[in-house]
Amino acid sequence: MRLLLVEDSVRLAALLGEAVREAGWHLDTVGTLADAEAAIAATDFDLILLDLGLPDGDGLDLLRAVRRAADATPVLIITARGTVEERIAGLDAGADDYLVKPFHHREFLARCRAMLRRSPTALQPVLMAGRLAYDPSTAVLTASGEAIALPPRERALCEALMRDVGRLVPRRRLETTLSDYDSELTANALDLSVSRLRKRLEGVESGVEIATVRGLGYLMRECLDDEAGGETP
Ligand code: CA
Repeated sequence: MRLLLVEDSVRLAALLGEAVREAGWHLDTVGTLADAEAAIAATDFDLILLDLGLPDGDGLDLLRAVRRAADATPVLIITARGTVEERIAGLDAGADDYLVKPFHHREFLARCRAMLRRSPTALQPVLMAGRLAYDPSTAVLTASGEAIALPPRERALCEALMRDVGRLVPRRRLETTLSDYDSELTANALDLSVSRLRKRLEGVESGVEIATVRGLGYLMRECLDDEAGGETP
């Protein structure tokens, strides 16, 4: 799931960003209408979180332009404008839902989940590899049915490898996945994350291993015959 947050308050953007990443979704944040337009033109988002009072204009104008372009991406307005007339104007401009500040971050996340349930990405099946199962709509990873707690970066990495289980996933694509969590990646950030994920998966009966393809990337392969306690070659 990839979300766009259009919010000029740095403090609120940081708070919401943390909540969204904890939920296991990717988030891009912009603070102006111009940057929002560029982001929407460049990327297909599953959900747009739209503040209305922005430094270079009104979020409603952006919303109307998006709908005029026949772009049906779900939009949740988050704003301090809370009168009945203002809510109606927001929904009539094309918003799918409307949340008035201040709000509780748990209600915010519940509304995001409700909207994402209707998105085509949410209809994707649960990913399976070895004894692992990953549900993209809830961001829950399990091994033999037991939930595995992973930090967001390692979870995103695991999801990317599971999507292409048995196939090489190029370094570049994995680095892009991680760059959602870290704006400045160090040269070995990917290798460190892979090594942490490997350790975590070795601690449970995952039925998979992550192989290094030197210089090219990584691939996750199933090793179901290798029972717990077996040696790693
Ligand atoms: Ca604002």
